[in-house]
Amino acid sequence: MQEAIKLTQEHLNTSQSSDYLMDKWTDWRWQLKNTIRKVETFEKIMGIKFSDEKKKEINETIDKFPMAITPYYLSLIDEDDFETDPVFKQSFPSIDELIISSIDMEDPLHEDKDSPICGITHRYPDRVLFHVSNVCAMYCRHCTRKRKVGDVDSVPSDEMIAAGIDYIKNTPTVRDVLLSGGDPFLLSDEKLDHILGLVAAIPHVEVIRIGTRTPVVLPYRITDKLIKVLSKYDNLWINTHYNHPREITKTSINALKKLTGAGIPLGNQSVLLKDVNDCPQIMKKLVHKLVANRVRPYYLYQCDLSEGLEHFRTNVGKGIEIMESLRGHTSGFAIPTYVIDAPGGGGKIPVMPNYLISWSTNKVILRNYEGVITTYQMPDTYEHTACDLNCTNCKLQLKLNNEESDRKPIGISKLLCDYEETITLVPENLERDQRNQSDEAI
Ligand SMILES: *Cc1c(COP(=O)(O)O)cnc(C)c1O
Repeated sequence: MQEAIKLTQEHLNTSQSSDYLMDKWTDWRWQLKNTIRKVETFEKIMGIKFSDEKKKEINETIDKFPMAITPYYLSLIDEDDFETDPVFKQSFPSIDELIISSIDMEDPLHEDKDSPICGITHRYPDRVLFHVSNVCAMYCRHCTRKRKVGDVDSVPSDEMIAAGIDYIKNTPTVRDVLLSGGDPFLLSDEKLDHILGLVAAIPHVEVIRIGTRTPVVLPYRITDKLIKVLSKYDNLWINTHYNHPREITKTSINALKKLTGAGIPLGNQSVLLKDVNDCPQIMKKLVHKLVANRVRPYYLYQCDLSEGLEHFRTNVGKGIEIMESLRGHTSGFAIPTYVIDAPGGGGKIPVMPNYLISWSTNKVILRNYEGVITTYQMPDTYEHTACDLNCTNCKLQLKLNNEESDRKPIGISKLLCDYEETITLVPENLERDQRNQSDEAI
C-alpha cells in the first residue's frame, strides 16, 4: 500500500493526504484515467531514464502496437530488476514485437473468418464467442488479438450487440455463450447487466461465460456493485488470465474472494511465454496459488502465431515438460489442459505427455509420473453394444427427447459411431483423386 501511495503521489504530483490518495488509487476509473501510455510517464514513475536510442525503438513499437499499463499493474514491477520482471515483460513494449516472422499471421485463429456476423465467432457446434468490448485495461504484449489492440473505433455499438443476440436467438444449437473482447468488465455495470440480461433470456442458452483479465490488471474493478449485477445470473462462469505467481497479490486475492463469494466458479487461462513462465517451478507455484484461491487452472495455451509474438514463443516441448512436472506431482484439479489453438481456425488441440505405451487385445501398458510401467487388464467379456439410436432397446437409461441435431455426430466421433456409414474422412481436392478423374477423361 505504501508503494501505491508513493506512486499515486508521484503521478499526481501532489502532497494530498494518504487517505485521499488511497481513495483515488482504489477507484478503477481513476486507474483507467491514469493508465500509463507514454514512455516518459513510465520513466518518471519508475525513476529511470532510457537512452535516446532505446526510447526511439520503444516509440516505434508503440506506434504499431500501443501501450497501456494500469498504475496498479505497474506497481507490481520490481524496480530494482525491471527488465527481467514478468510483469514488465507482459506490459511494456519490446522492439522484438516488430519482428514479423515468415509464419506469423494477422488472424491466425481465423476469428474474423469464422464469423457469421460481426462480433460473433462460431467455431464449435454448441458455443460461440461474443465480442462485447474491444477495450482493455492493460494491453498485454502477448495479446493474440494484437491486430485490434487500441482500435477504439471498434467499440461495439448497440446495433452490433443486438445483431449478436439475434444470431444466438436464431441458432438453437448454441447452449454456451462466451462474452469476450477486449474485456467485458470494462463495460459499465449497466451495459454489462443489459447484455447479460439479453443473453440469459434466450431459452436455449444454458451457460454464460465471461473472460476478463481485470482481477489481474485492474482488481479494483471488482466492486460490490459489479458483484450485485453478476449475482443475478446463476449460470455464470468466469475465466481470468494469470500467467505468473507474482500477479496473485493481496489486492487481487480480494477481488477473487468477492467473485467466489458470489458463488461464481472461476477458471484461469495462462499463456506459455518465454522468459515469463516457461519454467515448471513457476507454473507449479502459479497453479498452487490459483487453487488456494479457488481458481481452477483451465487452459495453458501455446503462444499463438499472431504478429509481434515471435519473441514470446517457446517450443511445444517446454509445455509438455511442464505438464509432465504437474501430473502426479500435484493435485489433479490444479492441472490445466495444455492446448495449441490450431492456426486456420481448427480450434484448441490438447497436447500432453504419452501415458499409454502399448496395448494388445486384452491389456494396455501404461506408465505413471514416476516411470513405473504397469498393465491394465481389460475385461474378457465386454461386449460391444451396437447403437441404432433406438434407446428403448438399450440397457442404458438415456430416455431423453434428444433433438435430431444432438445425434448427428461430426468429425472423429462420426467415424466411431455405429449408425453412421462414413468410414474415412478425406481431405478435399486430394491429388490422387484428381489424377483418377483425369484418367477417366482419357
Ligand atoms: C476457446 C474458444 C471457445 C471455447 O472453448 P472451450 O474449449 O469450450 O473453452 C469457443 N469458441 C472459440 C472461437 C474459442 O476460441
